[in-house]
Parts: sequence; structure tokens; C-alpha cells
Amino acid sequence: MSDCIFCKIAAGEIPATVVFENDDVIAFEDLNPQAPVHVLVVPKAHHANILDGVSAAELAAVVEAIGEVARAKGLSERGFRVIANTGADAGQTVEHLHFHVLGGTTLGEGLIP
Ligand code: 5GP
Ligand code: ZN
Repeated sequence: MSDCIFCKIAAGEIPATVVFENDDVIAFEDLNPQAPVHVLVVPKAHHANILDGVSAAELAAVVEAIGEVARAKGLSERGFRVIANTGADAGQTVEHLHFHVLGGTTLGEGLIP
């Protein structure tokens, strides 16, 4: 998608601090981190969110990439949280499917209103 910020990051047209990348997925540091580790794991193919035709193979690639990010960032032992905000009620602001990987501290329980 030509005006999608995460498509542009995936294409290397906008800079980002890349943590992991392969043919299908790119993972990079969130611009506005909410935890000591806050990485976005993004399938390179454009889908607006988890409801927008993402395939099982793409999700498998995402899960694999989350594992790579967790190991690279030292999160494997103590754990981490994965969030995919989907739509308005979840506060999704970037309309390209992405998974927040949050960790590096004991996370609060404030996910549910
Ligand atoms: P959402 O609210 O859609 O789940 O999350 C979007 C996330 O993307 C936010 O955490 C925001 O900080 C991050 N973000 C927005 N624009 C950019 C950008 O240009 N570069 C990076 N690295 N992160 C971004
Ligand atoms: Zn996109």
C-alpha cells in the first residue's frame, strides 16, 4: 500500500531500528516504547489487521519471528507480552497488521478496562 507507514518501513523507504527480518516479516523498535523492550513484529504483506485475510502461513512466520525477537532481546527466560490491537475499540492507530512484543520488566495487568 503506497501510503502505509509500515509498508514503507518494510520496503526500507522509512528508517527503523530493525531487530529481525526475513522475506516475510520485519521486526523493529517501536518509536514510542511502552516498556524497556517494545518491538513491533510486522508481516511484510499488507493486511489492515488480524481480520483482513492474513494466512496461517503468515501467522506462523510471525510467531517464529516473535521467538527470534524474544531471544535477541533476552526475553526468553522471564517472558513477555504480545498484543495485536485490532480496530477502534482496541485503539489501533496504524492500519497494517502488527504485533507488539513488550517485556524487560514485570508488566502491569492494565490491559482490560
Ligand atoms: P497501534 O496503536 O496501532 O497498535 O500501534 C502502533 C504503534 O506503532 C505505536 O506503538 C507507535 O508508537 C508505533 N509507530 C507509529 N509510527 C511509527 C514509525 O514510524 N516508526 C516506528 N518504529 N513505530 C511507529
Ligand atoms: Zn501496509
